[in-house]
Amino acid sequence: MHELSICNSMVGIVQQYAEGRTVRAVNVRIGAMRQIVPETLIYCWSLVTETSELMGAELLVERIPARIRCSACGQEQVLDKPVLKCDSCPDGRMDLVEGDEFLITSLELAEV
Ligand SMILES: [Zn+2]
Repeated sequence: MHELSICNSMVGIVQQYAEGRTVRAVNVRIGAMRQIVPETLIYCWSLVTETSELMGAELLVERIPARIRCSACGQEQVLDKPVLKCDSCPDGRMDLVEGDEFLITSLELAEV
């Protein structure tokens, strides 16, 4: 389960940025092309943080749909099937515009 190792490395990053302050929530953005199940990630996060300084910090996942663009006609579309094919022309090559990201976008820290 690679979500567990992702959570372990996120804990390290978040603790580094929090510098000992209490973290209420961590916002992450995950592209649809990433093989990550948000529910599993949230579950692993609670397991990993349970015994750390980040206990109680909520993981808030924002899912980004995969967007692709045709190199022939410029058509952009949301990828809803695992086929990189343009809907508006027969032979365009599709490039991934977004959907491959995995970012910690912000931390919500407790008031001091
Ligand atoms: Zn096209």
